[in-house]
Amino acid sequence: MPELPEVETIARGLDRRVKGDVIESVWLGSKPEPLKSSAREIMATLESKRINGVRRMGKFIVLDLEAVGRARAPKRAKKFAQRQSDPASGKAQWIVHLGMTGRLLVSPPSEEIARHTHAIVKLASGRELRFVDPRRFGRISVARNGDFEARGDEPLEVALVRFVGLFRGRKTPIKSALLNQKLLRGVGNIYADESLFRAGVRPRRRAASLTRAELGLLRSSLQEVLKEAIALGGSSVSDYVDADGEEGFFQLQHRVYGREGEPCLVCKTPIKRVVIAGRSSHYCPKCQK
Ligand SMILES: [Zn+2]
Repeated sequence: MPELPEVETIARGLDRRVKGDVIESVWLGSKPEPLKSSAREIMATLESKRINGVRRMGKFIVLDLEAVGRARAPKRAKKFAQRQSDPASGKAQWIVHLGMTGRLLVSPPSEEIARHTHAIVKLASGRELRFVDPRRFGRISVARNGDFEARGDEPLEVALVRFVGLFRGRKTPIKSALLNQKLLRGVGNIYADESLFRAGVRPRRRAASLTRAELGLLRSSLQEVLKEAIALGGSSVSDYVDADGEEGFFQLQHRVYGREGEPCLVCKTPIKRVVIAGRSSHYCPKCQK
């Protein structure tokens, strides 16, 4: 499953490739699961829009769109657009969540259409943006007025005072709180474990028991580990966007995640694994308090 750093890398790669391009037409498959907005709404919102940029919001990929003049819009689409969209700004968004196996591919039209392709967006440059997702946990949707806002705070931007406030009075384990998307958006299992190790905090500690200093360290550890992973992913993004998906990312050297029973890289104590709220959590019993 793509985690925040992968989504950031994919969004940056897409921004580089499709920014400024114009969406000419949209084809949607017949499977209902990937469509979070109605097919009609997706088509009406995307067609004849310029892609002003692509960015990550939590684990969502957001394509910022702007209306471009079209000499002859089909009557029905035009009527629908007038009724539905914000005429003042003409701004809209296309929002993609990759789920477990979703991919957004930039393809030449000649390229064979892969199985499990759920959307094909034709661009004025001649290329196509294709959404492929075998397991169908991914979602595409649109925000007609460009007002999409993922819930939770952005982990790479959250201010210290805000970060401390998120965990105040919370009796849940800090690990669960880190994964709670209503608090922080886009933090997954791997980066929660890795940041807790770097901060020296055990995953099962009650969130409310962490001191201000510990929370400060946890915030900087989380940001550090995410930034390192983004930096590693950045060099391989074009492979990912073009080709077959899974490979293409250099994995960050995990210090605890997936290393149960292996020696801690700092103190050589075997790494422990516990299950917290149904998720595997890895930690060093000596380095983490
Ligand atoms: Zn250790």
